[in-house]
Amino acid sequence: MAPQGAHFLVLGAGGLGAPALLALLAGGARSLTIVDRDRVDATNLHRQVLYDLGDVGALKSEAARLQLLRRDRQLCVDALTMDLDASALDRLLEAQPAGAIVLECSDSPDLKFMVNDACLRRDLAAVIGGVIRWRGQAQAIARGAACLRCVYEDPPPHAIAEQCAAVGVLGPAAGLFGHLMAHLAFALARARGEIAGALLTFDLLQMRPQELRPRPRAGCPACAGHDPSPTVTPSHPACSSRTIPAPR
Ligand SMILES: [Zn+2]
Repeated sequence: MAPQGAHFLVLGAGGLGAPALLALLAGGARSLTIVDRDRVDATNLHRQVLYDLGDVGALKSEAARLQLLRRDRQLCVDALTMDLDASALDRLLEAQPAGAIVLECSDSPDLKFMVNDACLRRDLAAVIGGVIRWRGQAQAIARGAACLRCVYEDPPPHAIAEQCAAVGVLGPAAGLFGHLMAHLAFALARARGEIAGALLTFDLLQMRPQELRPRPRAGCPACAGHDPSPTVTPSHPACSSRTIPAPR
């Protein structure tokens, strides 16, 4: 369950982000920021389970905000529509309250590595997930444990990276990992030292789950110079619940 006062920043409100948001709500999250740049597309509704036909064409972050508020009017939920490059991400993270937990739910490998590096720099905990075809993975990221770059070093070259749009995503794989990411976010919010670095994978075709605890990689540029830190006490400001302009 979500600790009192915890704030969750969800990057991407699509196949992973939609179930993650529902799971955050189910687990008692009261304070959320949702970021996406796209609109709801009818062809994705089967796995973007937060939306319905009435949302088709709407900005995804705003549609997600309204869907969550329909379920709980007392939620504090902000929506931003924006592209995330390195500097925009930095400004966005700067605007988050202390102890915020980031859920990276986009389909961009480059953004996953940017989030990994920026969160470690700012001592924010994050869950970085991804699904492709029938496989998925999610890693809990925090200072003092192995990070995404410890395991993979760099994003795959664009020429060989598999694209969701080209190879597809099994809906239940996205749903499973969206929920799992929310669970990892709660675990990080409660006691980050216990779960930091854990890498969970699941191949739904082979029904083969794995939990890995990779070691930090000597010389990892994202981890260098960052000492382990205790769980940060959440300190979310007064609730706003609004559609807000992207930070500049
Ligand atoms: Zn690392």
